[in-house]
Amino acid sequence: MALQQRRLQQILWAAMGAFGVAALASYSKAGYLSVGLELAAASLIALAYWWNGKGQMLRAARLMLTTLMVGLVALMAANEGLFDEAALALPAILVFAGMLGTRRLFVLLMACTQAALVLLFVLHQTGLVRGSPAEVDLQRLILMSAILAAIGFFVWLLSHDLHRTMAKLESEKQALTESHARIEVLAHRDTLTQLPNRTLAKDRLEQLLQARHGQGLVAVLFLDLDNFKTVNDSLGHTAGDELLCLVADRLGAGLGPSDTVARLAGDEFLILLGGLQHEEDVAVAAKQVMEQLGQPFTLHGLGVGVTASLGIAVAPRDGQEVDALLKNADLAMYRAKDSGRNAFRFFDASMNENVVEHLHLASGLRTALAQEELQVHYQPQFDLRSGRIIGAEALLRWKHPVLGFIPPYKFIPVAERSGLINEVGAWVLHRACLDAKAWRAQGLGDLAVAVNVSPLQFHRDNIEREVANALAACQLPASALELELTESLLVADAQHLSEVLQRLRALGVQIAIDDFGTGYSNLGYLQRFAVHRLKIDQSFVRKMCTSAHDEGIVRAIIEMAHCLGLQVVAEGVEDAATLHRLQGFGCEFGQGFHWSPALPDDAFRAFVRNHSAA
Ligand code: C2E
Ligand code: MG
Ligand code: MG
Repeated sequence: MALQQRRLQQILWAAMGAFGVAALASYSKAGYLSVGLELAAASLIALAYWWNGKGQMLRAARLMLTTLMVGLVALMAANEGLFDEAALALPAILVFAGMLGTRRLFVLLMACTQAALVLLFVLHQTGLVRGSPAEVDLQRLILMSAILAAIGFFVWLLSHDLHRTMAKLESEKQALTESHARIEVLAHRDTLTQLPNRTLAKDRLEQLLQARHGQGLVAVLFLDLDNFKTVNDSLGHTAGDELLCLVADRLGAGLGPSDTVARLAGDEFLILLGGLQHEEDVAVAAKQVMEQLGQPFTLHGLGVGVTASLGIAVAPRDGQEVDALLKNADLAMYRAKDSGRNAFRFFDASMNENVVEHLHLASGLRTALAQEELQVHYQPQFDLRSGRIIGAEALLRWKHPVLGFIPPYKFIPVAERSGLINEVGAWVLHRACLDAKAWRAQGLGDLAVAVNVSPLQFHRDNIEREVANALAACQLPASALELELTESLLVADAQHLSEVLQRLRALGVQIAIDDFGTGYSNLGYLQRFAVHRLKIDQSFVRKMCTSAHDEGIVRAIIEMAHCLGLQVVAEGVEDAATLHRLQGFGCEFGQGFHWSPALPDDAFRAFVRNHSAA
């Protein structure tokens, strides 16, 4: 029904009032039959009013229409027939029917009013209308029904237009509400995962901070997936998107009602936890998140393992404002990444200093290359059976004019993040080949040189060309060059890497896996990739004489490598006892402070000469 309940209530009031006033007027003229009819009509309309109040609108409207129709005709018949003033109220029936909005009802009532006029005319003719002031002729009947029909027609047109306009307005309102809802979603939700986006996350964090009222902790966990790029590159972007949605679901599943998971960009997520009492609670939550992600995801039938690096800032200690907390959590996340990924780190103030340092280092490194502040030092490597020097590992050194000596663990990550590692790496490669060639020319023996290569250098496609160019430019045989790769590289980029390594091997270059034992230590990839040697990480070797656990690891790595036909280099040999034990386990090569630290090129040559003389 097009009519509103409140509007019908008002109409019923007006009708009741009209019959009431009419009853008073009839009473004053002593027309008691009319008074009776009018009061009866008013009571029926009061009943309709009551029904309408109870929500039975249709029933109320029908009763009202019937009462009007029958009441008016009865009043006219009882008084002056077609001359009665009640006839003035007949158009009201049509107006009301028009407001109700159904065509059938309107036509029916139109017909009823016309029929009523005819009925009254017949009553006149048969002399049953007693109070008629004059004779009624057919002309009057035709005139009255024509006027009523015309009024009905106008009312119909008017109400039709009105209903159409209202329907149009209604649908526009609906569309507006829908587009508002859509805008709301776009402004506050990530379209892929439907998680809150950065804007909404910041709002929620603001709310959590306000709800603290000076008590409890709010934790901001900044999460970045470690190997997302690999999934994207190897399985495709659709699989990457699916993985992000699965990660979003899993992160969301473990949260309380007042917590929030948001996606900031790419593979970056934010988790907001409120109402915590102790910092341990935050650590427990972070561990849970890591464990949740630790279960493999199924993508296109493949089990895909995902790890994440998490940075945590806690209010009020690490900041009381949204932006400060986000920035600090982000910094802590980078720290977690630097520390080897798959880890979480709490923010601490020294990280800010590190950022400043980082900025200095990144700009300084650019000039360092040009100003020749970089040097390559060489740490001799030994054959443990014969005791002879077989070559050296090239280790980069940066002598900064103001900061002094900067260790590689500080500036290599900076070089990697700023992209400079490619230039730096190419420079080290060239320098090392040049020096190795000179050793041979000076009769120091057929020494090999081992060069560390960052995973990022492998992601660019020109590593083979760089290696070939360096060898050719220095006229160094390929067998005199060894490239040291980290384990993480093997896991991250399987297909592409396997091809590159095959081609390097075809050149004649040796390949070693550096820091073995600290990463994934997966046997599968050792067989799959064309590697020659494993370098056991110094953290195990240094402690192997004091820790049975570390000794066990070293021994197991050596045995396993031999089973796979690989040679082993032990790094970090600091004393004779370690050397003897390594010899006992059948380890082929070693390097470490027991013999020498990394030395500048001229000192290294002198060391080799002295060693062969002895
Ligand atoms: P790495 O490749 O594992 O190098 C061995 C590190 O152990 C060197 O540290 C070396 O000085 C140190 N070391 C050697 N013998 C002993 C010992 O007996 N005891 C102890 N405690 N330490 C010993 P360094 O020179 O500080 O290099 C650190 C890391 O920086 C290297 O680890 C390597 O990952 C990276 N790095 C160095 N030069 C380069 C480079 O040219 N390119 C790249 N991408 N990374 C480099
Ligand atoms: Mg190395
Ligand atoms: Mg190493």
